[in-house]
Amino acid sequence: MIETEGEASVSFLLDCGQFQGSTSQEAKNFEPFPFNPAAIDFLILSHAHVDHCGRIPLLVKAGFKGRIYCTAATADLLPIILRDCAHIHEKDAEWKNRKGQRAGKEPVEPLYTTAEAEDSFDFITPVLYDQEVAPAEGIRFTLLDAGHILGSAITEVRVNEGGKKTKLVYTGDLGVDSMPLLRDPVKVRHADVVIMETTYGARTREKHEPSVERLSGIIEDTIHRGGTVLIPSFAVGRTQELIYDLSELFERRNAALFRNVMVYVDSPMATAATGAFRKNIQDFDAKYKELVMAGDDPLDFTNLEFTHSTEESKTLNANMKPKVIISASGMCEAGRILHHLKHRLWDSNSTVAFVGFQAEGTLGRRLIDGAKTVSVMGEAIDVNAKIVSLEGFSAHADRDGLLEWVQGFDAPPETIFLVHGEAEAKAAFKETLKNGTGIDATVIDEYCCWDLGASVKAESPAQASEGRQGRQTARADRVPVDPEDAERLLEKLRSVNDNVEGLLYRAKLAAMEAMDDEDEERYISLKNLIVSLESDTSKLAGALADRRRGH
Ligand SMILES: [Zn+2]
Ligand SMILES: [Zn+2]
Repeated sequence: MIETEGEASVSFLLDCGQFQGSTSQEAKNFEPFPFNPAAIDFLILSHAHVDHCGRIPLLVKAGFKGRIYCTAATADLLPIILRDCAHIHEKDAEWKNRKGQRAGKEPVEPLYTTAEAEDSFDFITPVLYDQEVAPAEGIRFTLLDAGHILGSAITEVRVNEGGKKTKLVYTGDLGVDSMPLLRDPVKVRHADVVIMETTYGARTREKHEPSVERLSGIIEDTIHRGGTVLIPSFAVGRTQELIYDLSELFERRNAALFRNVMVYVDSPMATAATGAFRKNIQDFDAKYKELVMAGDDPLDFTNLEFTHSTEESKTLNANMKPKVIISASGMCEAGRILHHLKHRLWDSNSTVAFVGFQAEGTLGRRLIDGAKTVSVMGEAIDVNAKIVSLEGFSAHADRDGLLEWVQGFDAPPETIFLVHGEAEAKAAFKETLKNGTGIDATVIDEYCCWDLGASVKAESPAQASEGRQGRQTARADRVPVDPEDAERLLEKLRSVNDNVEGLLYRAKLAAMEAMDDEDEERYISLKNLIVSLESDTSKLAGALADRRRGH
């Protein structure tokens, strides 16, 4: 939570995630918020992963009525994630109550219900990347691509407290350069205060391409043995990236070898999320957009099948053909992956390939750490399958990536807070930062308060009073634009310029095609996009004319 000083004090949240992992971590989700949710003005959400958004329904339940700002893709993914969380909480409570009843215990309530999750959807307010948003007086923010999952954002907030200006940057989760599908994380060049994640702050990881090579080898070996490759994967993000990589292996690189191998995506949430991915082409990298423009669907290939019903999922258990199954949850804590583990872990011909971070206390972590027997849905299962971890699929910057991101600043930020990582990762990254940049970062443990006023440079008294008087009249309120912002605007203009000419021609062809095919839906969506483009170009012309007139 950030709280500004002064008469018009504003408080807002950066993310509102759920604790995940061990039972003691998860118990924290039931504790009340250490602030009054009804007094929070708004929330800025970095991305749609549960550890960043999972307690939003609780916030709304406790009286929060502000907007939830996020990118358009996050706005599409958030309902999918929160409904799934609610479903898990409901099942969890049901299971506890069934057991508790027999032991004469009081019934427990789910953390939140599906209806409660849905109550929070009304507050979701999508904004564009790079858009300047002014959610309250004295505050403006911009979301920049974090390159972590589709829609993920780095948040830049500019706070003006009666003339004292602070630029705060929150990383959310930072992604990795040159990952498939996604653009690279934006490097920020100036900030007073940085709040930064450290998930992989303690170590470096295999790069993406070698991991794809290894996965290819694993599939080859496992199908030779007649086994199944089981991939526990986060339904949102990781699964779509995997599909993209597998389509390359199955359609091009190993097409002959894998001709008879089916790939099943067995997760209703992953299927829904894949739909949301297809809807948000604007946020993908250039290569992906090119494929889509050429008429390819990079999230599909011949051997790929999405299973829907529980029945379809169950038939996979009896299916003894060599195959690949991708299922959620990624840390093996819930979902259909548990059924697949139960049926494959004991089979020495099969392989379980992990493609993401496994938190302390999860079943995934126990498997990676080499457990010989594990409990799956209350049943003890021997682990005979090969267990491998392919870290190059991770969507998190590793230690070097995080350091490189901080080195992107022109001048070191006044303060860096390290949050969001296991204690060891935070401590290790603090050392790395100290050695690599000389910055002495502050490690944040839960629920503590910091006065940023003491550490942030204040402006000269003359500038500050100018700022205060400035509120009286609009003109005096002008502040110089950050050179970093000015550069970004020019870059944006160049990219619009490069795109627009060819695009208008293609839009004309598409419009004619839609009318010829009597494709009403396509016609309507094209028309609405063109109408809003027309309105925006008129607004731009108006603003430029205004400026010439000296307003
Ligand atoms: Zn994340
Ligand atoms: Zn995270």
